[in-house]
Amino acid sequence: MKTAEIVSVGEELLQGDVVDTNAAWLSRELKEIGFSLRFRQTCGDCAEELRATLDLALSRSHLVVVTGGLGPTYDDITRDVTAELFGVALLRDERVAQKLKAYFQRRGMEMSENNLRQAQVPQGARILDNDWGTAPGLWLEGEKGIAILLPGVPGEMKAIFKNRVLPLLERYSGEARKTEILHFYGIAESRLDEELFDLATSDPSVMIAPYAGGGEVELHVTAAGANAQEASQKCERAIEEILARVGDHCYGRGEVNLEKALVEACASKGIRVATAESCTGGLVSRRITSVPGASRVFPLGLCTYLEEEKVRRLGVRSETLSRFGVYSKECALEMAEGICALSGAELGIGVTGIAGPDGGTEENPVGTVYIAVVFGEKKNCIRTVLGHRAADRDWICRLASSKALDMARALIL
Ligand code: ATP
Ligand code: MG
Repeated sequence: MKTAEIVSVGEELLQGDVVDTNAAWLSRELKEIGFSLRFRQTCGDCAEELRATLDLALSRSHLVVVTGGLGPTYDDITRDVTAELFGVALLRDERVAQKLKAYFQRRGMEMSENNLRQAQVPQGARILDNDWGTAPGLWLEGEKGIAILLPGVPGEMKAIFKNRVLPLLERYSGEARKTEILHFYGIAESRLDEELFDLATSDPSVMIAPYAGGGEVELHVTAAGANAQEASQKCERAIEEILARVGDHCYGRGEVNLEKALVEACASKGIRVATAESCTGGLVSRRITSVPGASRVFPLGLCTYLEEEKVRRLGVRSETLSRFGVYSKECALEMAEGICALSGAELGIGVTGIAGPDGGTEENPVGTVYIAVVFGEKKNCIRTVLGHRAADRDWICRLASSKALDMARALIL
């Protein structure tokens, strides 16, 4: 398998002022077309250090993709250093120079002399036209291997990669890959691992990798094959087997999250959902409304923080509060029922609990949350203690909102 390495150039990346999103994006793209990513390096705007960085990368990887440092200023050194490493001269390319001039003219901007630095091309390099900005990408090939230089601006980098680099690269990797992501809630990573262990280890061309966080687990399923079709079929077969074993806990695949899964489930069944929240402060409704098209299914969300408001707006009975307290299943249930009555929604969510850091008791420690979901005659109501001892308010709210979204979706399945 061909190996690839990414080199990110820029002092701002090294110092932590800009997050290196390019490298993550490129890793996924290269993996998808069958490269094995072994290393990644970040280097500042220093020629000497970049030379050492590139030298190392080329010595151990078949393909090196460099982003950043192709700009017009003196600290943009990627072009110069790479040309030097490949032992070729930098020459002005007239076609690129003309394109640059036209670019500035179209925008009614004056072009400064140093912009022409971007028309300097290492001898023998293939030029990857940049129709989205100024600096073209460059493809150098020699005894050392292949180096692809791309601008640092994420939009330009992606456009050049997709349109110019991918068609050339697919021929090199010699194998295709397909990755699909499955989303799970309510099952521990260790349980998934146990259930799928034999599947994950039986075929080396199929990789199953779990990523856990926030009560959720993502399963990244990657299959390699001689071509795209074979990879895709293998991936589908693995997914079928996974779903047969643990499908109950899988709420979606691809670009999905708990809120989107709920909104889609409601939309497809013609159900409207409303929320009555206390400790989560509206986070459940915020997450629902972050989904495009949520207005079709979400008429109302109330944040009833005070007990009086729970009574006044939602019709929670004073008797319920005095008998069971505001932190109780009974209160959560009446909140969920109340918001249905108030909004006309068929599906109601009620959340009450203690996000801390104060207010915890022996009976209800910080992180105790009561969540109720109602759908006509169907109800589900739970008490749960979320987070760990050091969990902060935001984290407890986040976990509580995820649980509420999942319970609501499960109730209408
Ligand atoms: P330009 O012609 O714009 O100067 P360049 O190739 O020199 O292109 P940089 O100057 O390194 O690119 O970066 C341009 C912009 O892109 C900056 O805003 C920078 O923060 C951003 N950027 C650069 N590299 C990355 C990266 N790896 N991930 C995310 N953003 C990046
Ligand atoms: Mg720059």
